[in-house]
Amino acid sequence: MFKPDALALLKKKRANFDQIIEFCHSPKAFLKYLDTAGVGRAVLINYVAPKIIGFTPEVNDWSAKYCSAAPDRLIAFGGVLPGTVPDPGAEVDRLAKLGIRAIKMHPSHQVLSPNDYMDGNRGLAAVYERAQANGMPIMIHTGTSIFPGARNLHAQPMLCDDVSIDYPNLVVILAHGGRPLWMNEAFFLVRRHPNVFLDISGIPPKTLTKYFPRLEEIAHKTLFGTDWPGPGVPEIKKNLEDFQASALPQEIKQQILSRTALEIWPE
Ligand SMILES: [Zn+2]
Repeated sequence: MFKPDALALLKKKRANFDQIIEFCHSPKAFLKYLDTAGVGRAVLINYVAPKIIGFTPEVNDWSAKYCSAAPDRLIAFGGVLPGTVPDPGAEVDRLAKLGIRAIKMHPSHQVLSPNDYMDGNRGLAAVYERAQANGMPIMIHTGTSIFPGARNLHAQPMLCDDVSIDYPNLVVILAHGGRPLWMNEAFFLVRRHPNVFLDISGIPPKTLTKYFPRLEEIAHKTLFGTDWPGPGVPEIKKNLEDFQASALPQEIKQQILSRTALEIWPE
């Protein structure tokens, strides 16, 4: 589904592009890759962004089907973008029935601010309402994107402040912690709101504590992630090794590597 510009960027940044294609066709091959990296369970991020990246709502059916090959190890994410389906709230319900476990929003690729419902976007309100009712977390991309056409104004973590107040039972995961411009905003929101969590994918593990010097204070609400196979993340295993090599206490590492995620998706 990739648009030519987005695909060209990905191909340019990935040495092993053919391997990614193979994994897209074969969950079995991907699970083997996870085994070699020492990964038990993986979250597969998918979202709808037809204009800038090329993904249509069909991505949800693909994600659900792919992860159904090993539901104990693969956690499917999907996306709902108002304007691309007749009834966004009903689409969330459909995703839940398909077995999709959470929704990813990508404000800079969707040209949509997380709090746009405050300006009358009823479709977006319906997405949050139905996600909350279905117990589906919402992961919101925060931080800059270099894909051609990305609108970075929408990627500021602070735009999620409204969401966490208006939907107090919705788990809101701030993807990438606002990196590299807005880490302070992300840290503040995780501390302020009981329902806001931090995802560290896309942050090079070696620089993690530089970006989040007080990470230990929010470790109980922090999730490990890599952003692989996004541009700039060569191997999952390398990220894990770099994370394990950091000076954080073992207990904190274990919390971030698995415990926080297990609290959100116990099975
Ligand atoms: Zn993202």
